[in-house]
Order: sequence, then structure tokens, then C-alpha cells
Amino acid sequence: MAKSYETELPLKAFGWAGTDTSGTLSPFNFSRRENGDDDVTLKILFCGVCHSDLHTLKNDWGFTTYPVVPGHEIVGEVTKIGNNVKNFKVGDKVGVGVMVESCQTCENCQQDLENYCPKLVFTYNSPYNGTRTYGGYSDFVVVHQRYVLQFPANLPLDAGAPLLCAGITVYSPMKYYGMTEPGKHLGVAGLGGLGHVAIKFGKAFGLKVTVISTSPNKKSEAIDKLGADSFIVSNDPEQMKAATGTIDYIIDTISADHSVLPLLGLLKLNGKLVTVGLPSKPLELPVFPLVAGRKLIGGSNFGGIKETQEMLDFCGKHNITADIELIKMDQINTAMERLSKADVKYRFVIDVANSFSSL
Ligand code: NAP
Ligand code: ZN
Repeated sequence: MAKSYETELPLKAFGWAGTDTSGTLSPFNFSRRENGDDDVTLKILFCGVCHSDLHTLKNDWGFTTYPVVPGHEIVGEVTKIGNNVKNFKVGDKVGVGVMVESCQTCENCQQDLENYCPKLVFTYNSPYNGTRTYGGYSDFVVVHQRYVLQFPANLPLDAGAPLLCAGITVYSPMKYYGMTEPGKHLGVAGLGGLGHVAIKFGKAFGLKVTVISTSPNKKSEAIDKLGADSFIVSNDPEQMKAATGTIDYIIDTISADHSVLPLLGLLKLNGKLVTVGLPSKPLELPVFPLVAGRKLIGGSNFGGIKETQEMLDFCGKHNITADIELIKMDQINTAMERLSKADVKYRFVIDVANSFSSL
């Protein structure tokens, strides 16, 4: 079993960590800080499995420090609060997403855009006060109250967990880039964790939604179960040609290297392509179709705390959750293998509390 190598903190924690680029995880003992005056401690109940966890495990982006405990779609129960904590109490069901600290003074933090703070501390794989942050594939976590979210009472905790990353990552750009005008046509490229939640937001905003996918076997569910209006198989030239110039906005959630040229071809005049997927290699930017169609390409990085709470409340109101495959912690390596092959319907969620209580 791997051990953490940093300064020992007072609390003993247990989780699963990756220790090399193989993408596999194994049991791991480490330590966490004591709950401070502004902190909330939560016993982790559920944690979603984001493709960013897999990219990080495999060091796809080149900045992983091992051992790494992934997990940034955390839902838990509050077990301890600090003296300054007023908005949470022991027993509350709460969420923690992609970040656990920011400077709180920069221009971006002042505008509730902590997710763009230059000193952002991610929930895992970030340096933090001489130690590192470890994520939600673990028994508990201690988080500054400012980065803890109230979880809507009417939503299931397991299927709601993916909203903490997948949900906000598609909600935020849809709002910012004005992709919410009822009756407009949204394309969702890549039908995985992010993509399937994007369909649900699209329908809640009153859009026509088309999935653009490499997996023909996802078509019937996309339409019958997830609510999409139509489905294009992206490597079928006939289907792509028939859809040329029909879409107002595309949200690109594809995790692997791909060409954006075919996607730009689907857009109408003034169309917008917003990428949230994070393939490791740079995308090629074809300027002619951009110029000729006055098209726009943008990006977006999850969301600030205020907007994440707004998104959770929106999901509570519209009953939006993820479609999940619930797994135990010791099934994580098979789940990661399947995630790497786009074989998940549509988010793995780890039943953390029930995985560790039996150990
Ligand atoms: P996911 O569940 O694995 O979904 C990705 C989907 O991309 C797959 O289901 C597949 O859909 C499609 N895809 C995979 N390989 C492909 C290929 N070679 N060519 C074309 N399409 C391919 O992943 P996720 O958790 O939704 O995350 C998606 C991406 O967003 C990842 O890169 C992740 O790191 C990133 N992300 C970014 C942020 C942010 O803040 N910007 C936040 C979270 C995640 P089809 O089967 O339909 O083709
Ligand atoms: Zn994520």
C-alpha cells in the first residue's frame, strides 16, 4: 500500500490512489488537516468518476504528482464544523466540486469566478500548505466553508453527485455564451458524463438538442431516455453532410484528440462552438470556416461557487440528475478501463461510504 510522503497531518484518512501512469488505483493511507474555524468536515457518501480523474491518473496533461487520490464530484454528510461556520450544521448533506480554495482577493474571486483564480487549489493534485490535496475517492474530507455547496433536498445523493463537476461544467458555458435561447438548436458532441447532462440542461432551457457521437449504440437511449431530439453519428459522412449548417451552438465534451472542422461545418452563420473537453494535444484551428461563417470558438472551466449553487438549485427545481452506474470502490479499475473506451451510461459513481465501512 502506498503512503503519502508529505508532512504528516493529524487526521488519518483512507482512500484509493494512483501511483503511476497505468491508470489503476489501489488502497492508500494518508493524512488530512484538523477541522479549522472556517472548515467543514464531511464523511464522503458518493463520488462521481470524471474523465478528468482518468486524465490525471494517466498524467495525460503532464502535471500529475503521485500518489494521487482523484475525485471532485463529492457528496457527503457534515460531521464537524468550525466556530465560524454558520451556513452548515452537522448532519447536512453537502457537495464539494472541483476546487477547495482560491485567493479570495483577485479580480476573478471578487466576481464569484474563483474557478479562474490564478491561485486556485483543486480538490486533488494541487500543492497545499506543504502538502497536497487529495480528492473524494476517500473516507472523509476537510474543506473551507466557502467551497461547500448545499445539496438540494429533493435530489438523490448518488445521481446528484456528478452535478458537482459534469453539471456545472456544461451549465456555466451555456449561460455565459448565451446558449439558452428557447427554440435554438444545441449540438452536444460526445455522449459521456458531461454530454448527457448537457442534453438535460438543453431541454430544460427549451432548446432542440442533437447529439453528435461516435457511438451509434447510444442513439436509442439518447432519444428515448435522455430526451435528445436527434442523433448524428459523427463518423458517418452522409449524416454529417445532411446536418451541415443546421446547429446554433455546440458544446464539445470530447475527451480525446479530434478534429473540430466537421463540428464547425454543422454550425449556422454566427454559430458558437464551446469546448469543455480537455484532450491532451492541441486542437487544430481551421480559420476559413470561422471567418466565412462569423463563427466563434470558446472554452470554459467548470464554474464558481455562486453559479454552482445556482446550478444545483436549478437541478433541484427541474429534477435534473445524472444517469449513473453505481459501483463499489474495488470496482474502480474496471470502471476506469470502461471509461477509457467511452463505455459508461453515463457516469460511474462510487458508493464510497458502503465501500469503506466493510473494510
Ligand atoms: P466521458 O464520460 O468519457 O465522455 C467523453 C465522450 O467523448 C465519450 O463518451 C465519447 O462519446 C467521446 N469520445 C471519446 N473518445 C473519442 C474519440 N476518440 N473521438 C470522438 N469522441 C470521443 O468524459 P467526461 O467526464 O464527460 O469528460 C469529457 C472531457 O471533459 C474530458 O476531457 C474531461 O477531462 C473534460 N472536463 C473538463 C472540465 C472543464 O472544466 N472544462 C470539467 C470536467 C471534465 P461518444 O461515445 O458519444 O462518441
Ligand atoms: Zn470533473
